[in-house]
Amino acid sequence: MKFHGMEKKEVEKALNTDYMVGLSEADAVNRIKQHGFNELEEGEKQSALILFFSQFKDFMVLVLLAATLISGLLGEYIDAIAIIAIVIINGFLGFFQERKAERSLHALKELSAPQVYVLRDGNWIKTASREVVPGDILRFTSGDRIGADVRLIEINSLEIEESALTGESLPVQKTDNKLQEENLGLGDMQNMAFMGTMVTRGSGVGVVVGTGMKTAMGQIADLLQNAETMETPLQRRLEQLGKILITAALLLTVLVVIAGVFGGHDLYTMFLAGVSLAVAAIPEGLPAIVTVALSLGVQRMIKQKAIVRKLPAVETLGCASVICSDKTGTLTQNKMTVTHLWSGGEVSQVGGVGYEPRGEFYRGDHKVSIKEEKALQQMLMFGMLCNHSEITQKGSEYVIDGDPTEGALLVSALKAGFTRDQLHKQFELVKEFPFDSARKMMSVVVKDTNGRQFIVTKGAPDVLISKSESILWENRRQFMSRDMEGKVKDAIEGLASQALRTIAIAYREVSPGTLILDEREAEKDLTFIGLQGMIDPPRPEVKHAVKECKEAGIKTVMITGDHIITAKAIAKQLGILTPKSKVLDGNALNEMSVEDLEEVVDDVSVFARVSPEHKLKIVKALQSRGHIVAMTGDGVNDAPAIKAADIGVAMGITGTDVAKEASALVLLDDNFATIKAAIKEGRNIYENIRKFIRYLLASNVGEILVMLFAMLLALPLPLVPIQILWVNLVTDGLPAMALGLDKPEENVMKRGPRSPKEGVFARGLGWKVISRGFLIGTSTLLAFIISYNENPNDLIHAQTVAFATLVLAQLIHVFDCRSEKSVFSRNPFGNMYLVWAVISSLALMLVVMYYPPLQPIFHTVPLALRDWLLVIGFASIPTFLLAGSFLASKNK
Ligand code: ATP
Repeated sequence: MKFHGMEKKEVEKALNTDYMVGLSEADAVNRIKQHGFNELEEGEKQSALILFFSQFKDFMVLVLLAATLISGLLGEYIDAIAIIAIVIINGFLGFFQERKAERSLHALKELSAPQVYVLRDGNWIKTASREVVPGDILRFTSGDRIGADVRLIEINSLEIEESALTGESLPVQKTDNKLQEENLGLGDMQNMAFMGTMVTRGSGVGVVVGTGMKTAMGQIADLLQNAETMETPLQRRLEQLGKILITAALLLTVLVVIAGVFGGHDLYTMFLAGVSLAVAAIPEGLPAIVTVALSLGVQRMIKQKAIVRKLPAVETLGCASVICSDKTGTLTQNKMTVTHLWSGGEVSQVGGVGYEPRGEFYRGDHKVSIKEEKALQQMLMFGMLCNHSEITQKGSEYVIDGDPTEGALLVSALKAGFTRDQLHKQFELVKEFPFDSARKMMSVVVKDTNGRQFIVTKGAPDVLISKSESILWENRRQFMSRDMEGKVKDAIEGLASQALRTIAIAYREVSPGTLILDEREAEKDLTFIGLQGMIDPPRPEVKHAVKECKEAGIKTVMITGDHIITAKAIAKQLGILTPKSKVLDGNALNEMSVEDLEEVVDDVSVFARVSPEHKLKIVKALQSRGHIVAMTGDGVNDAPAIKAADIGVAMGITGTDVAKEASALVLLDDNFATIKAAIKEGRNIYENIRKFIRYLLASNVGEILVMLFAMLLALPLPLVPIQILWVNLVTDGLPAMALGLDKPEENVMKRGPRSPKEGVFARGLGWKVISRGFLIGTSTLLAFIISYNENPNDLIHAQTVAFATLVLAQLIHVFDCRSEKSVFSRNPFGNMYLVWAVISSLALMLVVMYYPPLQPIFHTVPLALRDWLLVIGFASIPTFLLAGSFLASKNK
């Protein structure tokens, strides 16, 4: 069926729908059964079984399994079965970690799934795009992505960018008329809109003709299966590091084996010990634990109302040095109320609170009767006419649906007694030129009952002055002279300096039947009527958040389309504008090249009256000064800057689909304070990853060194293979995971941002790994030597002492890893996950030592009190020796 060649009515009939009320919910459910969900099929997913077996494909694990098999064949059943059991448990652990990582990544994708406005049972509702069925009526506006293939039935200056389908990057102007040509390419079907394309201007309504794989996008879906790599820089660095660590561990293991064989051990024993050591010492699980830590962090961020769309952003967040934030709605509440009116040189106040449409008008102490004030009357009425917002009452509260600026104008008109119904009877809408933040205006062409035609424009006052040739003054139209202009500008500044956002209203009468094709033709030679000034109070939590950011070395920059004086007043209230910092406006930015801006950008903290394209310039200038920039945005035109920023931030409530798709972070509450919370979490996640890398590697160094030194000293094996594997599984695994859940140190937001170039071992981490690892290895060996010398005939006893010392040394050391400073700087019970992980590890150690059936398997014997004193003493050395030296150096 060719819908583009049919009249609207024919399409309505063919799809068995109703343009006025849409489908019923019940019908929609039935149609889903018939047509399936509106989604593109995804590529094959990795099955659980394959994921499980892939845990064992690691080379050293295979060698270990082969070696175990051989030892089994040689009659060492118990060892063989125990080792295989440990390898399988390890496999399960890896499997669950990867599963969790995969699931949370998937959940992230679901959260950012697109939504659409659809007409059901006569009401417009917002629903997930996958629920849409053929016959549904969809509504979309600038910045939305089209949710299915639709035949347009109503348009309003609608332009759609279809490059994803046609490769053509210029937006296409749409129509809702029937097209005559039969065989048209997608690019020429001007009365259709296709799934996945993006509205760049205007708005429209369409009826769904195709969903899911039956859309034009569905037909090329295979080509679009571009799996975006979600690896973070740290993960990539760890992968490279992993290769170096594997080589180092293997070399050392070979050294251990050679030394052992020269020292008189038999080759078979040394081979099994060597392979076990290699399996234990190679941090093959590190990338998976890192992914888990990242995705758990991402989940914590969701609780704080920040959604990370791209995993690498978690890391970049910790490096952010500048946040460029929109003013309206992010720093302020976006709950606007008109409090002042200005026209003909006089200011009036508007009473009432919030959106409640009740309030009086005053001039000084006198009540003003709007009926007697022609200019005010006209200004309030036009403010309601050139307006899309709706007001509804929910209980005792009034809510605005639509743009809050327009909501404020609607409420001020309602207070004066105007109603939409009455205006609709009086005026018929002929055409509309929607608001865009580059023009900073919106206009409508209307015809009244007498056939007179008017253009009504509202917008930024300083822009509207330049479009006006006359002004209503003392109820007469007067020429907009220089002198008049000066008076209006004084009035704008007067209102703006009280932190009010100002909107001007102007109009022009045009002869009936005049065709106005574009906004340039409409928005000229206007008559300026007056100003409405509205408050938009700052969000209460922002001031503190700005302060915290400052302490954390992060500068906050306000970027706003609003008037420079309004912007300054609010920036001062929030502590963004300080006596030392500067303000730049859009005009100044136009004159500057990126290089010019670079010179001054470090001193600027407010950019006012900017257009979205200026944002890109600001991002570039800041980046070339070496900053890591977070940039917020909501509109279509903000997308390039959001993409170019190191952390693109989109608004969850007011943001368009396009802005969200370009972003790395979405704020569910549009709130600046949420960016700060996400940065704090980003810093913490990175620090936690450093903590467990430090813990795991220091433990591995300890394990290798105790074996290596023993072999070099021609001693017996201090640990048997099964003990090494057990330490790797229990002592290393659980506490490392718990470190990933650690709370931030108090100073995370008291120090400057991390350099993005910083390596894994920066800030002393490498030294800590080696020094602690060395001490863990030598203490364990000393405990072993002492015990062995006392009783050379009881090797198992000495090995049990070594085993217990190693486990305990690591479990004490794990508390040291929680802090950059020393073990004493944090309350050990601050992370209860860790406390429980350590208690479980300890308990499991006691079980393998004291539960008789396990003793032969793990080559252990019960220890006496004296042994325990030895174990505890040596196990404490690695952590407390260095902590003591730290304290001593601090006291000096
Ligand atoms: P921010 O960039 O901080 O969100 P903003 O919301 O003030 O600031 P824009 O939405 O680009 O930025 O608005 C710029 C100016 O355009 C406003 O100061 C106002 O004067 C005017 N304006 C805003 N909304 C409308 C609208 N719906 N109709 C007409 N003019 C508007």
